[in-house]
Formats: sequence, structure tokens, C-alpha cells
Amino acid sequence: MNGMYLRQRCLLAAGLCSAAFGAGAQAPASEATVARHVAEATRLAGSDLTALMVLCKPAPAARMTPAQGEAYLSKMINQPVPEPGRAFDNLYYVGAKWVSAWAITTPQGIILIDALNNKAEAATVIEGGMARLGLDPRQIRYVISTHGHGDHYGGANYLVERYRPRVVMSALDWTMTETKLEFESPLWDAPPKRDIAVSDGDKVTLGGTTVTMHITPGHTLGAISPTFEVKSNGTTHKVMLWGGTSFNFGKDIPRMNGYIESTRKMAKIVQEQGIDVMLSNHSSYDGSLPKLEAYRRQKGAEPNPFVMGTPAVLRALGVMGECAQAQRDRFLMQP
Ligand SMILES: [Zn+2]
Repeated sequence: MNGMYLRQRCLLAAGLCSAAFGAGAQAPASEATVARHVAEATRLAGSDLTALMVLCKPAPAARMTPAQGEAYLSKMINQPVPEPGRAFDNLYYVGAKWVSAWAITTPQGIILIDALNNKAEAATVIEGGMARLGLDPRQIRYVISTHGHGDHYGGANYLVERYRPRVVMSALDWTMTETKLEFESPLWDAPPKRDIAVSDGDKVTLGGTTVTMHITPGHTLGAISPTFEVKSNGTTHKVMLWGGTSFNFGKDIPRMNGYIESTRKMAKIVQEQGIDVMLSNHSSYDGSLPKLEAYRRQKGAEPNPFVMGTPAVLRALGVMGECAQAQRDRFLMQP
């Protein structure tokens, strides 16, 4: 049955069957379609993007229970804090081992992307890291929370009380944090009070640096994947920071389809704009920690290890999109 369907689609599309499926037409979900998406993800991942292949492992059909969530969060939070570091002339890592915080520096202040889990981390990891790098936390003008889960906003209230930055989140995720949190934990501080609510394409500009907010529904309905420019050795590079990676929302087909669509939307933008760096808000996906270490050891003008090139950024989005399609098909096959 599925074989016949596939043959008909391929005939209709005159040999462009894979392109036709890529454009939205789908074969009925089966073990074969799952395997095809995983194989394509594996091919796209090559040897450099294998960290993203964790997304191709079967995801649970239900969200974690509060008890499972506590155990997982404790384990993640209690890892040793990595060395903070510079990734580009104007971009610094001030995150924890599990969850990232990125500081974009400008002549008129700092834009911080994500605020970690709680005030203790904001104080020791963000402020502590900034101090070690010679950055002044009093210069933080904006805190962008990539999405409405506590590992990204938990330290925001502490920073707001101390430095009064504006807090940016998508309108959709502000509403989620005000109404029904998708995840709650005593290890996270309360969500910040609604401040700047952004929609797709909105921009935050400070000191000549513009951060564009692309809303990439999937991980949450209003996850922000910001794009911005950085400099290294006098060369400008373009960054896209993927704002929500894992499929931790359970069996939710529209959410999976939204995620897949978001990878396609960002691939178009990456291609059009020549984005050549992809970052994440969790260091396990983008290899930030070993890249920071490699950058730290460099002498002279060697290539910046964070610069992947546009084809690799497109492959990374392809891996995420193919794994999302594999997972959607697994969910579709479940009763
Ligand atoms: Zn999340």
C-alpha cells in the first residue's frame, strides 16, 4: 500500500518525488517513512553535526511528570560550571554546562540571550562569567528569553531587579507563562513580568547591532530563533541561534508539523542571508564548549571554530527537520 502510494507520487511528480514530499505531500506514516527520515538526517549530519542526531531517537508520547522533571533538572543544573569565553569579537558565552547564555556586546550596552534557571545561576554563572571576561553586568540593556521555559527565563527577575534591562519574549510565550506554564519547577524562579512582546520579524537594536526575532514554533509555540551579526578578525559573520530544540512536548502532531515548518522557514532565511554560524541555547547541540576551548587556544588568525559556513547551517536545519518528520511519523503510527 505504501509502496504503491510512493510510486504514484513519484510518477506524478515526474521523478521529483522527494521534492514533492519535501514541499508538504506526505506518504502515510510507516516504519519505512521513519527509517527514510532518519537515514536522510544521518546523511545530512555527516561527521560534524552528529550531536543533533539525538533528536532522531524516539521521543516520549507524554511530557515528563513533575517528579521526572525535578530529577532531570537537578542532574542538569548540578554539573560543574564551564569556563566562560569569547566566541566572536562581540559575542561571549556566559552560560552553564547544560543551558547557554550568550552576551552580545555593543558600544551602548549588552544584549543577553537567555537568563539560565534561577537567581543563583544568574549571579554565579552570568555575573560571575561576565566579571571573569571583563564585562560589566550593569551594561545589560536587554534580556531575550528564547522561549517560555524556566531554564531560559529563571534568572531574569534577578537581573531585572539589579540592572533594569528590558525583557524580550514572544507574545505567545508571554501568554503561556502568564496562563499555563508548560513546565513548572521549584528549581526555577518565577517568570518575569511581561515586558517587550515580539512577533515574527521584530527587531531589537542597540549600539549598532540589530537582533531580528524569528518566531519558530515547535519546541514552544512562540520560540524565538534570533539572527544577528558578529565579527571575527575583522570579518562579519551572520548567526542564527535556534531557540528551542527538543521534542519534549509529547504526542502533539500540530506541534511537530510546526517544528518541521520552522526548520524550512529558517533554511530559506539562512540561504537568502548567507548565515554561516548556527548556535543553540543548550551547549550539547552546537558544541559551544569545545569550540570556545579551541578558540581560546588559537594563536593568530586561524579560522574561528564557530564559523560553519552556510551549507553546514542548512544541513543542521535539515537534520532537525528530518528527525522531526521521523518523530511525527512515529507519533502518527501510535494508537
Ligand atoms: Zn525548553
